[in-house]
Amino acid sequence: MKHPGQLTGAKASQIFNAINMGLVLIDASERILMWNDWMVKHSMINAKTALQKTISDVFSDKPSAAFLTSLRNTIQYGLPAVLSNALHRSPLPLFNPGELSEESGRMHQSITITPLPAGPDETHCLIQIMDSSASIKREKILRSHSEIFRKEATTDSLTGIYNRRFFDEHFKMAMGHSRRQQLPLSVFMVDIDFFKEYNDYYGHVAGDKALISVAKTLKSQLTRASDIVARYGGEEFILMLPNMPEELAMQFAERLRAAVWESAIPHLKSRISEQISISIGISTYLLGQDVTIQHLLEAADTALYKAKQNGRNSCCYLNAQSIIDLAGVDKS
Ligand code: GH3
Ligand code: MG
Ligand code: MG
Repeated sequence: MKHPGQLTGAKASQIFNAINMGLVLIDASERILMWNDWMVKHSMINAKTALQKTISDVFSDKPSAAFLTSLRNTIQYGLPAVLSNALHRSPLPLFNPGELSEESGRMHQSITITPLPAGPDETHCLIQIMDSSASIKREKILRSHSEIFRKEATTDSLTGIYNRRFFDEHFKMAMGHSRRQQLPLSVFMVDIDFFKEYNDYYGHVAGDKALISVAKTLKSQLTRASDIVARYGGEEFILMLPNMPEELAMQFAERLRAAVWESAIPHLKSRISEQISISIGISTYLLGQDVTIQHLLEAADTALYKAKQNGRNSCCYLNAQSIIDLAGVDKS
């Protein structure tokens, strides 16, 4: 008597065809014994045609060598096999109607091959094929989102140059590199002169545009991939140029100052001229000096303050060692 919960052949076949994955059963000589509706849909080969062929002959395009090798191993040794999508994108010529994936146009697949004992000396194989196109698409979207987040976390949203967080991280690395390689490293603190007056007179929107323009001008002066410019605060910028000794740093700062000056952004309320200008404080890590990042930044900041005192629209250099010496004087 049939148990009420027992699966009939008809029900099993219904399930076999309704399931949302490819199911193919083959015998030890690789002949196809079963080919479900999912296979029909994605290979465009009907079951009747498939059942008369071997798995190698059923497709006009051959299955991949890795797939055939795995299949033969399963038949011969009775061991299951998995072809992950990461290593084997599309072992079989299967397609998603109306949706061609890139390159070959084949569907991305994950395939499992399971041995099914069929007699004392015979093993059949069940091949299960999952469509992994959707999960790959999802993964791609996630990857591009995380790329966007990474970019947002390191750039200043107004000017598009790096932000202070990125600079601080990068500066640490660059300083370590300079110490190990025994190379100098120059740092430049840039501040726009009388920018409060600019905002008060021209308005915040114009102020923002001026910041964007100054950032662009500063960036345009960089030539090496290791050179960095970042927005350090409101109207302050910071630059770091590895392998630049102090004499060159002075010349480079002068170039930055001149470039902003020559961009000639009108500033009728500047107390020193009628256009936007910047002041720059410079310091350089010199070979063998025992100075920290903090010392360098402090020296550049003090130099900037001096440039402002000297009348603005100017550059000033301060040796980082003098910061240590000053601290020593303070203590005594
Ligand atoms: P100094 O020459 O001594 O540097 O004078 P300053 O007016 O530039 O200096 P202060 O620090 O007094 O003013 C900086 C001004 O920069 C304050 C604010 O109006 C403006 N500012 C700071 N951040 C932004 C910003 O994101 N957008 C705009 N539009 N203005 C900003
Ligand atoms: Mg300032
Ligand atoms: Mg300022």
